[in-house]
Amino acid sequence: MRNKLEISKTITNEKGKIIFFGLQHFLDDITHGNCCFICGAKPGSKEFNDEHIIPNWILKKYNLHNKYITLPNGTKFKYGQYTVPCCEECNSELGKTYEVPISKLLNKTYLEILEEINKDPKILHFLFKWLCLIFLKTHLKDKTLLSERDIRIDAGFLSDKYYWEEMHHIHCISRSHYTNVKIDYNVYGTIFIVPAMAIEKADGFDFMDNEVSKTIMLQLDEFCIISVLNDSCAGFTLYNDNFSRIGGPLSPFQIRDIFAHLSFININLKERPIYFSLFNSSLNEYKIKATMPKLVELLDEKERFISSGQLLRQFVEPMIGEVQNKKQILKEIEENKRNYLFDNNGNFIKN
Ligand SMILES: [Zn+2]
Repeated sequence: MRNKLEISKTITNEKGKIIFFGLQHFLDDITHGNCCFICGAKPGSKEFNDEHIIPNWILKKYNLHNKYITLPNGTKFKYGQYTVPCCEECNSELGKTYEVPISKLLNKTYLEILEEINKDPKILHFLFKWLCLIFLKTHLKDKTLLSERDIRIDAGFLSDKYYWEEMHHIHCISRSHYTNVKIDYNVYGTIFIVPAMAIEKADGFDFMDNEVSKTIMLQLDEFCIISVLNDSCAGFTLYNDNFSRIGGPLSPFQIRDIFAHLSFININLKERPIYFSLFNSSLNEYKIKATMPKLVELLDEKERFISSGQLLRQFVEPMIGEVQNKKQILKEIEENKRNYLFDNNGNFIKN
């Protein structure tokens, strides 16, 4: 058992509203408890109706209510029952604030969405906050899911291995609509919207995220959004050259190639941005800021935690199926000898 964390205290305004969850409070009530993940209300103290992890309008659009999401332990979980504790009031607020405008935006075509963003680049920040919300909800759920599907093996819950302190920052972003916090521009992470090939098998919908690299991907028909939630755009800085060479709709393998590279960058940054909250004494101003590294660069090769090939293998292995030379293919992916995005001359591989 570790000692109680004393590094940050909960800050409540004069009306009793929690403006800032201290880290220990966040761990006790939100990640390990069952309080409303936005306002912190205890179960029974208010009406609860729980919030869908994948927004309901997406479940409806892609007819997913009775379909299954595959969790990191291989378990399949019905999307319709994939929810986290949320009070009715916060749930309806989330709908109004995020889901109504975002469903309107993301029901447009890829080119129309780009046009909207060109007109108002702040839309990217809004999408980023929404992705933080989905990511947070996904991983709050893991506290109730066993690491091993075989219940004879006592491996604890999926979330036991998480480093919740980083999730605390994502939680602060996810409830920014509730606290009215001002988020500095350099707190926002990498976000790419890319054209994608329709995936027949999945009926146009695809989703994945990675807890370690804080990377999330959501495909809705002909476009895909990939974001890194705590890299302060390091991925954008180091990957943008590749991104600008993309010359057509991406296959699921190519999307995972980008996902692996952005994850690789974020995991192996030499110096990381550090996020912190600031309040003035009357609590009417709350800001989230970042201390930025002087240089955006990767660790020296021998110090890196994982290679992009190892990550790519992890992400594409479930898609490869039972082919004859599967072992060889996986080995090549892991050794960075297979590239889904660019050929040997650096040209984009069209599908
Ligand atoms: Zn609430």
